[in-house]
Amino acid sequence: MDKRDGNAIPQTLQEHLQQLGQQFAERLRQELPQLAQQGEQLRQVGDQQRGPLLQTLRDQLHRLAGTAGTFGFDQLGQQARELEQQAERWLEHQQRLQHELDEFIAALQCLGNQTSSSEAPGAPQQQRQQAPRGETESRLIYILEDEMAVGENMRLTLNNFGYQAEHFNTIAALDAALERQIPDALIVDVNLANENCSGLDYAARVQQRLEVPLPLLVLTHQDDFGTQLQAVRAGALGFFAKPVDIPQLESRLERCFAQQSGEPYRVLIVDDDRDLASRYSLVLRDAGMLVEFLQDPAQIFEHLRDFNPEVVLLDVNMPDCTGPELAQIIRCNDDWLRIPIIYLSAETDIGKQMNALIKAGDDFVTKPISDNALVATVFSRAQRARLLSNALARDSLTGLLKHGDIKEQVAIELERALRSGDRASVVMLDIDHFKRVNDEHGHAAGDNVIRALANLLRQRLRRVDSLGRYGGEEFLAVLPDCTPQQAKQIVDEIRERFAELRFIADGGEFSCTLSAGIAGTDVHSQAEQLRERADKALYAAKHGGRNQVQVAASEEHRG
Ligand code: GH3
Ligand code: MG
Ligand code: MG
Repeated sequence: MDKRDGNAIPQTLQEHLQQLGQQFAERLRQELPQLAQQGEQLRQVGDQQRGPLLQTLRDQLHRLAGTAGTFGFDQLGQQARELEQQAERWLEHQQRLQHELDEFIAALQCLGNQTSSSEAPGAPQQQRQQAPRGETESRLIYILEDEMAVGENMRLTLNNFGYQAEHFNTIAALDAALERQIPDALIVDVNLANENCSGLDYAARVQQRLEVPLPLLVLTHQDDFGTQLQAVRAGALGFFAKPVDIPQLESRLERCFAQQSGEPYRVLIVDDDRDLASRYSLVLRDAGMLVEFLQDPAQIFEHLRDFNPEVVLLDVNMPDCTGPELAQIIRCNDDWLRIPIIYLSAETDIGKQMNALIKAGDDFVTKPISDNALVATVFSRAQRARLLSNALARDSLTGLLKHGDIKEQVAIELERALRSGDRASVVMLDIDHFKRVNDEHGHAAGDNVIRALANLLRQRLRRVDSLGRYGGEEFLAVLPDCTPQQAKQIVDEIRERFAELRFIADGGEFSCTLSAGIAGTDVHSQAEQLRERADKALYAAKHGGRNQVQVAASEEHRG
């Protein structure tokens, strides 16, 4: 099965930006002379008609001020901004001295007579892009822990979770391993009894040697502020007091990796200016984000539903519906509360910015904005939004979608599959004789098994697949672009891997198996029916002796 790739850029960014810059220069060649003409009109009309004309001019100057700077015509943008502010003052106070008006018109004509080539646009900036990591290889984790029992227990437990963990009890041994291979994360004990430096000093030195710092988790007996500060300075992303709650540590690891190689952030731009929106899209796409552009505010809900953006960038001045009005419409609907709304506007008046933010919206970014600033603003908002929405929507034990959300995801994927004509598969999984695990090894051991399976599923499924914890030890997944036969192959492999996992608990070593049922979409599928068919197949797998995967007969065959 191939992976969907939504953020490929067909041409290089440079070429694209250049092309957009040329389009904009072309637009200036038409718009600037119009401004000069309107200046002339302003001189000729009587006082009464000047108001509406000034208003139109102000709006045009406002747009020009925002766009010109963005396309690298900084000087032009600055001039437009000054003229816009002057027009604004006149509109508010009504008084226009004749000589001021003459100067305004002269400046306008001067602006209008500029050719767009008289100012070379600034060079577009380049952004750094990180290569995506393979999804299926297991993560290599090095543990530096001088207490043998603690380190070994952590190694075994992390291995059960599907990581490839290695334990070292001396700095020399870890150094030798680092020579051979750089891991994906490092776990370091602060207090090393037999070494002449602390674990933190050592970790800081390791980080300095690396081009890209490793995710670092720190273990310690001293959970004081000073040690935490030192840990953060060494690049720690997690801090754990002993005795360590390993499932908690594992979930932090998972979060570090999710941030490293997570899906691209989804950004929706609403702007009536297509050129400007295209430029923002390119810059954000180059920074690895997925961008959709919407010109007609009336279609906002379709776009929110289909694209599910994590940030909305909103123009303030649009002809039919203003940005703050649209933001209020979005905020009236609880479904979209978690999405940050950032206004992108040429508005520099703090009072007006405040007004817009009081009504709705989370942030204000003033055009023209540099590419780096745009990326940084959108990135930080998106990151925080995803973190929060994960914390709210995800199951705390497994980090997977909760019951309601995975059911909704099945419905969404099914609808998409019906529209595109692609096949999708729904999978129900359940751990076999799980009650026994709890009874014989304790509830905590049972929790570890659930987390291990969640982790295994996460690692084995593709990024486009959705996965949720349907109930206690039951999981539901939906696999787009995947026939039931392909799904069976994947799930069978997961089943075999799961059966091989060894779990450690007070009562000794044990292992578990799972059963699964699969149903594929057909022409008249409905989400709930599809899930029920998968559930029936799961039931058949249980009755067939467990530790197996069954595919539901297709509706078409059954007539
Ligand atoms: P079968 O093979 O038929 O699925 O047998 P089973 O014992 O797995 O099935 P059953 O559904 O009867 O039992 C599931 C048990 O899972 C019951 C419940 O106590 C336990 N369980 C549910 N949620 C959790 C959880 O979050 N943690 C732990 N440790 N146990 C849980
Ligand atoms: Mg079960
Ligand atoms: Mg069950």
